[in-house]
Amino acid sequence: LKSVQAEEKNVLVLDAGDLITGTPVSTLFLGVPVFEIYNTMPYQAVVLGNHEFDHGWSQISEFLRVAEFPILSANIRLPSGALITGRATQGIAVGNLKIGIIGLTHPDLRRLTARAGWEGLTIEEPAAVAQRYAKALRPHSDLLIALTHLGVDDDVALARAVPQLDVIVGGHSHTQLTQPRQVGNTLIVQAGCNGRYVGRLDLVVDLVEKRIVRHEGRLIPVTAESMGTDPVTAAAVEKWESRVREAVDVKIGDNTTLKGRSELRDIISEVLRVTFETDFGYQNSGGVRADLSPGPILKRHIWTMLPFGHRVTLLTLERNQLSEFNVKPPAGEDKERYTVATNSYVAEQVAARLNLPPERIETLPRLLRDVIIGYVEARGSLEMPALVPGLQHK
Ligand SMILES: [Zn+2]
Repeated sequence: LKSVQAEEKNVLVLDAGDLITGTPVSTLFLGVPVFEIYNTMPYQAVVLGNHEFDHGWSQISEFLRVAEFPILSANIRLPSGALITGRATQGIAVGNLKIGIIGLTHPDLRRLTARAGWEGLTIEEPAAVAQRYAKALRPHSDLLIALTHLGVDDDVALARAVPQLDVIVGGHSHTQLTQPRQVGNTLIVQAGCNGRYVGRLDLVVDLVEKRIVRHEGRLIPVTAESMGTDPVTAAAVEKWESRVREAVDVKIGDNTTLKGRSELRDIISEVLRVTFETDFGYQNSGGVRADLSPGPILKRHIWTMLPFGHRVTLLTLERNQLSEFNVKPPAGEDKERYTVATNSYVAEQVAARLNLPPERIETLPRLLRDVIIGYVEARGSLEMPALVPGLQHK
């Protein structure tokens, strides 16, 4: 980012959200270090993604306190009615160009985050909100950009609903658009995920007609070899890494074969079942965020695999409610009630869908992550419980 800024006169640097969650640095300090580290990079605006709500929406005020760049979200409001980040849009002058930017956050926070992430908030449909702001901004802007965290399919729909948008810079679906996608006169770009690419979009804008006359987009792979290390950003990362190293760079076991996320999901489900002596265990695939490579297992690996601070929750369900978990009781068995051990995120969703009474939901004080760390510590590996000698199947 800094080298492009050094080479080019008119540069705008944006981020399409989901800055936090995924690393121990982020999770241990509730996302705050990520915003501090972003301050070392030349971002001019970012939009709130769904993961920015992972520590409850009240934590977003901390991000606003730390960030030295505007954080936008035009469609999420606090119980008071105020915009959650205080800013829906940002006007930025780049050279002679007046740019209007509208920030839009995924509206389905109820599905994407735990209750503390959305309860009490008013969430509006992004397209309707964008139409309103586009109308207001268009007369004062040479270029109108939606900075979205909606996913590429919704970006296409947004481009159709709000044709005044010149560019949509999107996130959420982790799509690697190697070329901008064009819908009408709107260009849609998205640069994959996890900092693997920086998206670069070069535009030539006719200031009289207020339209893009030429464009060229590409993804630039981010590797240590091609980019080198920026000393200021590296120092900010190191400050926080050194604080977590002692806590998480602790060897707790060994792993012999590469385990992918779906295999880990099955193992974790089974560990839950065996540990809490329930009929079933259930871990959602979206909750497992990393593979496990062969070699020593550090606590850090479990933190990266299970970055969310979800607690173990036990549900008591009736037979016909088990379809929620895609499981069937053994043939011939006829119990009235079945128990399922899962994480608090899944439990909340299922409890809401089934309208479960509180006495059927037991949230334990133990974090899922700590249960798995304890399991590895006790056994020296993360294998299916059935393969571990001395552990009995129920
Ligand atoms: Zn997202």
